[in-house]
Amino acid sequence: MADLPKPCPFCGSSDTVKEADFGTSLMVNRQYCRRCRSFFEAIKWGDTDARLDLPDFLESPEP
Ligand SMILES: [Zn+2]
Repeated sequence: MADLPKPCPFCGSSDTVKEADFGTSLMVNRQYCRRCRSFFEAIKWGDTDARLDLPDFLESPEP
């Protein structure tokens, strides 16, 4: 589940492979896109999927 291919941020291809468990920090995986041959880093959040929407406390409407 944690090893699902991450889409390439450059070309959008899902033909990517994980190069290393850790990138520049413990929060990212180092990925390689075989389509455009670019390296990128994918953020990982433990066992949960990365969420693009904001946390609830940031979405609360102003009074
Ligand atoms: Zn790519």
